[in-house]
Amino acid sequence: MPSDERLPPYGQGTWGMGERRSRRAAEVAALRHGLDLGIELIDTAEMYGNGGAEEVVGEAVAGRRHDVYLVSKVFPHNAGRLDAIRACEASLRRLATDYLDLYLLHWRGSTPLDETLEAFEALRKDGKIRRFGVSNFDPGDMSELWSSDAGRQAATNQVLYNLTRRGVEFDLLPWCAQRGLPVMAYSPIEQGRLLKDPVLRGVAERHGATPAQIALAWVLRHHGVCAIPKAATPEHVEENHAALNIRLSGEDLAELDTRFPPPERATPLEIL
Ligand code: NAP
Repeated sequence: MPSDERLPPYGQGTWGMGERRSRRAAEVAALRHGLDLGIELIDTAEMYGNGGAEEVVGEAVAGRRHDVYLVSKVFPHNAGRLDAIRACEASLRRLATDYLDLYLLHWRGSTPLDETLEAFEALRKDGKIRRFGVSNFDPGDMSELWSSDAGRQAATNQVLYNLTRRGVEFDLLPWCAQRGLPVMAYSPIEQGRLLKDPVLRGVAERHGATPAQIALAWVLRHHGVCAIPKAATPEHVEENHAALNIRLSGEDLAELDTRFPPPERATPLEIL
């Protein structure tokens, strides 16, 4: 991060968690399994499961909060000067903690950016968040953010990035890299849709790995990019975490580039 602080390079996502009571114990167990493996970061949002995902995370981190780098997000319609403070306090209650490591504006929306930045600064001064950032900001939004001293304190931009969504390589990733700003890659395995691809499977076979691991290793090969796959079983958590040990060769990367070509021009930022 610009301030010399470190953003963990890998974390656990939680979209889809906290939606059904019957799955709650399994979701808590999956997240705890990740923490046991040493995965520090957990990414959640007030949106996921209408606050249910934050409650699952709260249960998973109980008793080990200080080992966890906790990220949550505010809805744009809750991101006004006072609303964002109330929304953050509600997230903290659901998470059963008194601070977030990182609080993100979930997407741009229509709330004036300076109001959100003011709220983030107030939350930081009160110790309720350590850092703030943004999500789904395109290069135009980032330039606007960077035009103020307050905006330049942002710690990350969390965006959709995986083998099938490479548009950000053209402009956003270089923009962030030039400023030393880490990017968090969400949906790094394209919510599972990518895993049957024959070329990806071929590369995986060569490594004695799974397609999910290769897709993650590909995202993680970028310096300054953090991947946050969501997994609701201990098996998936473990499998995905092992991707941190895979190094893709020039041959692997060339094959993947042929199958999933890098962008040749600027395209609108994709969002899920
Ligand atoms: P993802 O991580 O690409 O994929 C999650 C899906 O893949 C789940 O259905 C999961 O199933 C499955 N999966 C995980 N590991 C697997 C494996 N090894 N083999 C086969 N299937 C596997 O998609 P995502 O959840 O959209 O993105 C990750 C996180 O990014 C989210 O959870 C959320 O925290 C964040 N996010 C942020 C935004 C934003 O706007 N900022 C948008 C989307 C997502 P199981 O659950 O059954 O393991």
